[in-house]
Amino acid sequence: RFLTVEGTEGAGKSSNIEFIRRTLEARGLELVLTREPGGTPLAEEIRDLLLQPRDEKVCDDAELLLVFAARAQHLTQLIRPALDRGAWVLCDRFTDATFAYQGGGRGIDLARIEALETLVQGDLRPDCTFLLDLPVELGLSRARQRSAPDRFEREKQAFFERVRDCYLDRARAEPGRFAVIDASVGLEAVQRQIGAQLERMLEA
Ligand code: C5P
Repeated sequence: RFLTVEGTEGAGKSSNIEFIRRTLEARGLELVLTREPGGTPLAEEIRDLLLQPRDEKVCDDAELLLVFAARAQHLTQLIRPALDRGAWVLCDRFTDATFAYQGGGRGIDLARIEALETLVQGDLRPDCTFLLDLPVELGLSRARQRSAPDRFEREKQAFFERVRDCYLDRARAEPGRFAVIDASVGLEAVQRQIGAQLERMLEA
C-alpha cells in the first residue's frame, strides 16, 4: 500500500512520519520510507536545485517540470518496484503537494498539473494521504524556530494560505483517500488521531 503525508510548513511531518514508521514496522510490515521531491540520488539532486536560493527567477513551468521529473525517476526506481513486491511505501509529500504548492501557491492551472500527473503516474495514486492541517500562522512560527528558511519557506503568508486551502479542497473532494489530522494540538494528540486511522487501515 502507498501512504503519503502532506502538510504546510511546521505541521510536524517529520515526527509524525517517524511515528507511522514505528507503528507499521511493529506490525512486521516491510516499509519503504521516502520523500519528495527526492527519494533517489538523481531526484535528490533535483530537490537541491529546487530548494537552493538563486538569483535567477525559476519560472513556474520549470519548477513544475522539475518536480515531475524527480517524481518520474522516483516512481520508476523506487516506488513502483517496492509496491510490486508487496512492500508498504510511506512518502513524505507527493503529488498533492504539487497541486497545493505549484497549483494553489504559484497559481499554475490545475488542469496542467493533472495532465502531468496522468503522464507520469498513469493511474497510480496514494491509497491513503494523511493531511496534517493547522493554521498557517501557527505553522510558520513553529517552522521559524526550527531552521533557516529555504527558497519556498521565504514565501509570504498569503502563499501558504493558498497552499492550505488547496490541500483542504483536495481532501474534501476525496474523503475516502484523505485523513485530515488536526496538527494544531500537541504531538501526542496528533499521534492519537493518526494511530486511530492506521488501526482502521490495518483492519480493512
Ligand atoms: O517536505 P519539506 O518541507 O522538506 O519540503 C521542502 C520544501 O519544498 C518545503 O519548503 C516545501 O514547501 C517545498 N515544496 C514545494 N513544492 C513541492 C514540494 C515541496 O514547494 N511540490
